[in-house]
Amino acid sequence: MNVVENKVKEILKNSKNIFVYCGTTVHKLAGLNGVLAEHIAYEIEDYYGYSSEEIVTDNFLTRRVKFFFDYYQNIILGKTDPGVLPIAEEIRDLQKYINIETVATDTIYSLYERAGVDNVISINGTVENNYCPNCGKQYDANYVRAHRIIPHCEKCQVPLRPGFTLVGETIDNGLISKAINEAEKCDTFLVIGSSLRDKVFKNLIKYYEGENLILINDKEMFGDDIANYRMYGDIEAILKKFLDEISSELPMREKPVKKEKTETVETAETTDAADTADTADKADTADTADK
Ligand SMILES: [Zn+2]
Repeated sequence: MNVVENKVKEILKNSKNIFVYCGTTVHKLAGLNGVLAEHIAYEIEDYYGYSSEEIVTDNFLTRRVKFFFDYYQNIILGKTDPGVLPIAEEIRDLQKYINIETVATDTIYSLYERAGVDNVISINGTVENNYCPNCGKQYDANYVRAHRIIPHCEKCQVPLRPGFTLVGETIDNGLISKAINEAEKCDTFLVIGSSLRDKVFKNLIKYYEGENLILINDKEMFGDDIANYRMYGDIEAILKKFLDEISSELPMREKPVKKEKTETVETAETTDAADTADTADKADTADTADK
């Protein structure tokens, strides 16, 4: 391990409350396009005649439902189930030794939940929680993938609503305020696979007052210099190195007790913060929709 890695390892070992934010690099490395698939924007516009920002909207879901689901099935989901990613498994295994209390992500693939990571907040919702707008029954990503053209509720025969936030919709206020509360409480803020100019990250980092902002990403990006510690390269290999060393130096943690409901009762101050975040987010999504 080099000097920075050693320093970061000691910080991780000694932190009482680590907040992890996982960004879009992680799913892109696994070949998943994400909701807007910015990296293939030209191909999408060429093939569909519309941009992804126009397609992933309530307007298309209600008025051009075939079109919407074609995009959902082929661009967002892809042909095959991604399975459990090694990066997600490493975070789960690190959680056995160090105090990773929360893992927040704007990725919609339930990558961390599926690996068995505790306390995941999927801020934009997930492709595993599609639901019937009539009876509320939930359907996973494989159900959507397997139904050519439009996936319907088996009981009500109405098209499903996706479990993730559409362009122009507001992020679930409960989820973002929960993530803000956790970011505010943590002593170490670890970012894995994200630009530090990412909108969701920028919304969360405003509430972090510590001096341990750590970044692990595949390559350097503009704006990274706000991090106190930075490591670049193969994310999976970097995490593996931490996992190998930390697991040989620390005993396993006791299984964290599930948080009491009372802890999430909002104080007047945090409610204000959540309101601000919500407003900022509305502005952001409106902005995206306009483009
Ligand atoms: Zn139904």
